[in-house]
Formats: sequence, C-alpha cells, structure tokens
Amino acid sequence: MTTVAPGGTIGILGDGQLGRMMAIAAAELGYKTHVFGQDADGPAAQICTKMTVAPYTDQQALDAFAEDVDVVTLEFENIPSETLSFLESKVPVRPGRKVLEITQDRFVEKTFLNSLGAGTAQFCNVESLEDLQKGIERIGTPCILKTRRFGYDGKGQVKIDSATEIDEAWKQVGEQPSILEGFVPFELEISVIAARDINGNVQSYVPVENIHKNHILDITLAPANILESVSEHAEDLAQRIADRLELVGLIAVEMFVTADGSVLVNEMAPRPHNSGHWTIEACATSQFKQSIRAAAGLPLGNPERHSNAVMRNLIGDDVEHWQEILAHPDMSLHMYGKAEARAGRKMGHVTRLFSLDTLPTA
Ligand code: AMP
Repeated sequence: MTTVAPGGTIGILGDGQLGRMMAIAAAELGYKTHVFGQDADGPAAQICTKMTVAPYTDQQALDAFAEDVDVVTLEFENIPSETLSFLESKVPVRPGRKVLEITQDRFVEKTFLNSLGAGTAQFCNVESLEDLQKGIERIGTPCILKTRRFGYDGKGQVKIDSATEIDEAWKQVGEQPSILEGFVPFELEISVIAARDINGNVQSYVPVENIHKNHILDITLAPANILESVSEHAEDLAQRIADRLELVGLIAVEMFVTADGSVLVNEMAPRPHNSGHWTIEACATSQFKQSIRAAAGLPLGNPERHSNAVMRNLIGDDVEHWQEILAHPDMSLHMYGKAEARAGRKMGHVTRLFSLDTLPTA
C-alpha cells in the first residue's frame, strides 16, 4: 500500500476549520495540501498550497485534483458516494467509500454498531408516517426522530414527547427517510477518537466529556471524569469500531454514559473532530497530525497526553473575547479566519492546559 513521503501532496475534501488544521499539520510534516471545496477564501483555502473550487460532482475538476495529489483524505463526511468511487479508481482515498457509506446514514451506522456488539439507543427505520406511528408504539416516548442523512449540530432532528406530535415531527424532518431513537437519559456525553494506520495498528485518545449549548459543542473536558472501567470500555469500543471498519484514518465516536455506567454509541465521524481540538496542545501527536500520518501511510504517532485540558469553542460573538484570551498565560487561541461572526458559527476555539493531577471542570 502506498506511503507518501514528506514532500508529497495530500488532497483534502472539504474546506472548513478541520481542513485548515489538517493543512497546518500536513505542512508541519513537510507535505503540500490541495483542498477541494466550495469556499475560495474559507478557513482551509487560506492555508493550503492549492485549492480547487468546484462541486463534488464535477468529474473534470475531480480528475485534475486526483492527478495532482498522492492521496485523498477528508474533513467532511457528506461526500457523495460516486465522488469517492471516482477518486478511488485513480488514487488512494483514506478513509474510503465503504467507511463513509456506513457513517453517512444513521440507520446503517447503528445497525453496524449493534452487529459488533456496541450498544445504541433503541431505534427503527422510518420511511412514512405509518412507520413513525408503529415506531412510537414500540419505542415509546420521549423519543427522537432524526433524518438518516445530512444531520449535524442537532439539525434534522426533533424530540417527540407525546404521540400527538407525530404529524408535526414528520413535517419537521421534511418527510425524509429517518430513524426513530429512544431518548437516552444519559449522565454525560463522551467521545473517543481512534486512529488506524495502513497496517491495521490502532491507537486512541483518552475519552473526553462534551458539553453542548443549543445543540452545538461548547466545552470539551479532557479527560472525562468517569470510572476507569467505563473509560477502558469506551476506548475499547472505539478501537474495535476502527478495526471492524478496516479504517485508514480517524474515527470520532460519540457516546452516552448512563447512571449505571453503560456506554451507548450515538454517532461516529470518520475524520478529526471538534472534541479532539485539545490534542493540539495536550498530546504528543495531535488528532490532526494523526489523521495526516494515517492518510499518508506513515506509522501512527503517540496519542498520550502530557497535560489535562479544557477546550471551549468560540461561537458567534464569543470571538470578541480574543484579546482577553491572549492575555491569559495558560490559554491557546485558535482562530479560523472566518470573516463574519454569525450566530451559531464556529469562529475559533481556546484550549487551557492543566497538570495531569488536576481534573478539569467546565
Ligand atoms: P446528534 O446529532 O445525533 O449528535 O445529536 C445531537 C445531540 O442531541 C446529542 O449530542 C445529544 O445531546 C442529543 N441526543 C441525540 N440523540 C439522543 C438520544 N437518543 N437520547 C438523548 N439525547 C440525544
């Protein structure tokens, strides 16, 4: 299998802040980057060596992109399957189409998770109002209706508290193929990021706790304040998922921890993840370097942390506090180069380091 030595070119599908931080990590390892996306002045465009601005369905543009790069990776999982097949016929794509086909669809994803013994919320497929009615009879309320595809940051989902709300809920998800999930009364939300290299070696970062505000990640606490046994179980799950997917790259696995210590997987993303930004300052190898190492076919780096950390997203107007953050000796500021601070938009993040014997709190 292909190894790309420093000096080569990494192709990145997607042009947001994750692509920006991947491009920075790639540059540190001596690679050039070619970003394929939509925004010629977006976060990744400002960093990469070369940018193609074209739709993911533009074969001519994809062809020229594939010619220019040694390997393709991604920062965004909603890439059409046909695009990935086309690229895979020309150049290694890591992670590849098969992984994306599982993680792009919530029903396929949860079915896969259950098949390897990972617990999830109860769920069923919903293609019509009738399916929804039957689903609610089986799963009960409260429950959550989510579109099977293209959901993020709580978009494309609606909580149902009573069977009388089903007409409205079905309308709210746009009458699209969806899944109905039982509502999990979780104590906390955690995530684990695992990486797998071309030889099948797997490494993972310590589980972290994620705190959301308005459905958007607000704060990550590294490590999560959970029992050692729960932590080991969560890491083991993420590693097994990476293995079973035969992944080459990163997989971020979001999980719920319930009062009795059970771990249920909510969803997965086959790329660097917002809950892994703390690794830039706190770990020997950041998630971004790890993703580039995996994509390039290099051995994985050491994911161990040398510090505990708290990461806070700067969303919308939060970014106006950048000067106060800079004045703080323990804080690292990251700005994504976005021109306009719209509400709900991730403009940057800040990481604060703590010693390993201090358990971080929000
Ligand atoms: P998702 O888009 O699936 O990550 O969901 C966004 C957020 O909604 C999660 O981070 C949870 O806080 C909440 N959520 C999603 N699914 C469930 C569930 N089955 N039970 C309880 N809360 C959920």
